[in-house]
Amino acid sequence: MNRSDQTAIVTGAAGFVGSHLCDSLLKMGYTVYGIDNFITGQAKNIDHLESNGNFHFIKADVSQPAAKYLPAGLSPDVVFHLASPASPPRYQAHPVETYLVNSIGTHYLLQHLKEHAPQARFVFASTSETYGDPAEHPQVEGYWGNVNPNGVRSCYDEAKRLGETICGVHARDFGMDVRIVRIFNTYGPRMDLADGRIIPNFIRQAMDSEPLTIYGDGSQTRSFCYVSDLVAGIVLMGTLEDLAGETINLGNPNEEHTALATAELVKKAFDKPELEIIFKDLPGDDPTRRKPDISKARQVLGWSPQVSFAEGLRRVRESLN
Ligand code: NAD
Ligand code: UDP
Repeated sequence: MNRSDQTAIVTGAAGFVGSHLCDSLLKMGYTVYGIDNFITGQAKNIDHLESNGNFHFIKADVSQPAAKYLPAGLSPDVVFHLASPASPPRYQAHPVETYLVNSIGTHYLLQHLKEHAPQARFVFASTSETYGDPAEHPQVEGYWGNVNPNGVRSCYDEAKRLGETICGVHARDFGMDVRIVRIFNTYGPRMDLADGRIIPNFIRQAMDSEPLTIYGDGSQTRSFCYVSDLVAGIVLMGTLEDLAGETINLGNPNEEHTALATAELVKKAFDKPELEIIFKDLPGDDPTRRKPDISKARQVLGWSPQVSFAEGLRRVRESLN
């Protein structure tokens, strides 16, 4: 559907996922206001949008009241709130910024919309980390999680949980059209290869012909979703009718791999079978396993991931050439 009469706001627009989301929305015809303060994002992710007349970039901190950075009179149809450091090393390096943008940043945006665009849809980028180290597997949306409230990951996972609380209050108590996506591990072109996550680390190590670093014994699992699949789900969440108050998992349950298997798959995809694997300490509160149950996304959004891990890694490799 052509959305040339519609306006979207994307916070975290210069990030990995946010920049792909901006591309998709612009292709659909949206006028897009992208907001970012570059705390973990990169200008090069949105450089190609500079000459696009439908893209407006605002450098701002989304933890500030929205009236400070949004143009007066701007009344968006949909807001995607993605701004937040996302990799464990990065959010642990910026704990205050991380809990602020997910909590008070979410609060300020929703309060602003309540006053200036109460009909707007609001999509909050939450995370599989709200399930913590899950006692249930795979994780369904109804699972409340197993989270350490004062651990090294809490600046992120508890802040996302508070962000969800703030979304719930605005949906229930103020009748706003708020939706939550719980995003599971995603990879693809424009990942920051220095951000310390498992796929960026392994790819950088493979490209530099260095040993691949496994934390712990490598038996922990993650389920890897390719970025175009994720973005398709986020777009559906922001565009379909009648989803106010809904929370939906987005991830790829077909590609649950141990850290050790992930290393082997990256070595294969980058033609580096000879690389050594070395073991390092497991970081604190590292979840032992993670896989989304996406029954709800299949049913409500008609969404399921299409890109296999092998194909996704091939596309990442191609993008780095
Ligand atoms: P990213 O770090 O590449 O992008 C986040 C962007 O938000 C960056 O450009 C950063 O500069 C910006 N940002 C952070 N704080 C800000 C602030 N206060 N004001 C303005 N901009 C700010 O991370 P990503 O992987 O693209 O993640 C995007 C969103 O998806 C995040 O909310 C993250 O928590 C969520 N998520 C991602 C994954 C994943 O695997 N990539 C998994 C679960 C959830
Ligand atoms: N990991 C690893 N080697 C690395 C980076 C990460 O073994 O070089 C592990 C990490 O301990 C975790 C998993 O890979 O168990 C996924 O880590 P990531 O930082 O990508 O994201 P998380 O899902 O933990 O937020």
